[in-house]
Amino acid sequence: MAGKRIAVVTGGNKGIGYGIMKELCAKFDGIVYLTARDEGRGLAAVEDLKKLGFAPRFHQLDIDNADSISKFTSYIKNTYGGLDVLVNNAAIAYKMAATESFGEQAENTIRVNYFGTLALCRSLFPLLRPHARVSTVSSSAGHLSRINGNEPQASALREKFASPSLTEEELSDLMNQFVEKAKEGKWKEAGWPSSTYVVSKVGVSALTRIQQRAFDADPREDLVVNCAHPGYVDTDMTSHKGPLTIEQGAVAPSYLALLPPNIKEPKGAYLWYEKQVVDWVKGPMP
Ligand code: NDP
Repeated sequence: MAGKRIAVVTGGNKGIGYGIMKELCAKFDGIVYLTARDEGRGLAAVEDLKKLGFAPRFHQLDIDNADSISKFTSYIKNTYGGLDVLVNNAAIAYKMAATESFGEQAENTIRVNYFGTLALCRSLFPLLRPHARVSTVSSSAGHLSRINGNEPQASALREKFASPSLTEEELSDLMNQFVEKAKEGKWKEAGWPSSTYVVSKVGVSALTRIQQRAFDADPREDLVVNCAHPGYVDTDMTSHKGPLTIEQGAVAPSYLALLPPNIKEPKGAYLWYEKQVVDWVKGPMP
């Protein structure tokens, strides 16, 4: 099986992830893995895709579980020896009506959306082959301007996030500091916004920039990572309030997953759902 090109989508069983699966099954020259944390839901989605004439494969993958990440990584390594496309789509968002404390929401949201994505990337990146593409689903909520708690602390935080020399460790420290402040009930004073989801998505957007810097210094040729806001989409996450279809939401993340070899840009960029690059530090937001 070595030599086959491999693409992987996280949280592929429903919503935008399922839309991305359809795009990749139609357009990717190789095997597309639908992964899901729940085997039953994942296999059901694979059956739905087969009815559409596609031939996806399935593997269990919970980005919030180190053992699951490790098993999946070993499986890909031992079966195919490498990976060509990774779409980081899986994420959670609390509903407005959620009754959990802000501190608890912060801990869980940052752990899954930021640290889960980070852990999967760290595990799979050694398997990336030359010309690999990584596409991370961010959000309009993941624009740097959304770090907008009390001033001047918010500006100081934005400056840290925007630093071109920010490291993964420093970024993870910032995420942990937010969770700590959220638990103490002092996040606003420390400059943080009142949305745990915003902080998690700013985190993955900042991570994208750091990862591209590492790719640029990597001996493997032409590794590219970008992130995208998929638009406001009709999914369970939005309680079906978004106007866009999952197919429309899949456009930008799939475009980034399928960027042709040796492109000059976008690299380490933040894209809007109509595929235009948006300046993550200065804006403006479209
Ligand atoms: P959904 O809630 O419909 O789907 C989320 C997917 O992620 C599900 O497959 C879910 O699995 C999976 N998931 C959650 N936690 C984990 C985990 N620990 N491990 C593996 N998979 C997990 O959301 P959307 O389709 O709307 O969202 C997809 C992406 O788009 C997310 O990153 C979201 O933040 C982003 N986004 C969405 C917008 C929108 O308007 N919908 C706007 C901006 C960004 P399960 O079915 O088991 O719960």
